[in-house]
Amino acid sequence: MNILVTNDDGITSSALYGLREALSGLGRIFIVAPDRDQSATSHSLTLHRPMRIENPEPDTYAIDGTPTDCVLVATHGLLPERPDLVVSGVNRGPNMGDDVFYSGTVAAAIEGAMQGLPAIAVSLVASGLADFTYACAFTRRLVDIVRAQGLPEKSVLNVNVPNRPAAEITGVEVTRLGRRVYDDALIERLDPRGRKYYWIGGDAPVWDPEPESDFLAVHEGRVSVTPIHLSLTDEPLRRRLAEWRLGPA
Ligand code: MN
Repeated sequence: MNILVTNDDGITSSALYGLREALSGLGRIFIVAPDRDQSATSHSLTLHRPMRIENPEPDTYAIDGTPTDCVLVATHGLLPERPDLVVSGVNRGPNMGDDVFYSGTVAAAIEGAMQGLPAIAVSLVASGLADFTYACAFTRRLVDIVRAQGLPEKSVLNVNVPNRPAAEITGVEVTRLGRRVYDDALIERLDPRGRKYYWIGGDAPVWDPEPESDFLAVHEGRVSVTPIHLSLTDEPLRRRLAEWRLGPA
């Protein structure tokens, strides 16, 4: 079995190597990751410039591209063997609720699923000091189960792990994506030359404590596992739109 490990935090993240260690024995582990932090790059793709790929050690590649680029090049000939599974992470920071749309970590897993591979995104809900030990061990457990059970096509598992020692994890919950309440603001300042610049800011968003949500599970110390499906079509609205007489005029 060949496992592709990628992330959006970049090739220097220790979590990549923690995952490689935790998954060792399952087969050949390839690391293909961006050469720098590409967090919040979502599902972007590098199309308008050439990409460079460094190979600092065997089966380890750093790409001056996005997480999606990493999965694409890994499944289209960079690697000597095609991966059978994609693990994206462990991300430093949460990827829950609506944030999955911004997430490079989740996007890499989604790209894996689009390439027909079972895929898992894993994030540690940490802001400062992060200890990836338990998250890596849990990922190994989950990979073992996914190998036995399989995943449906076009589905991804999105995992968020509380930043606590293993003894303080209170369980594992299968959740749904929760809701954040954003307080976004556009901050306008002047640079030293008197030109305006802008920064997306605002207060830290708060989350809605819905039962069965990823946010609540992690808040209460449980690992959250959310199945995500790639089908975005809104079927009830599609049926309504059919009655809208959209044209011809
Ligand atoms: Mn990240």
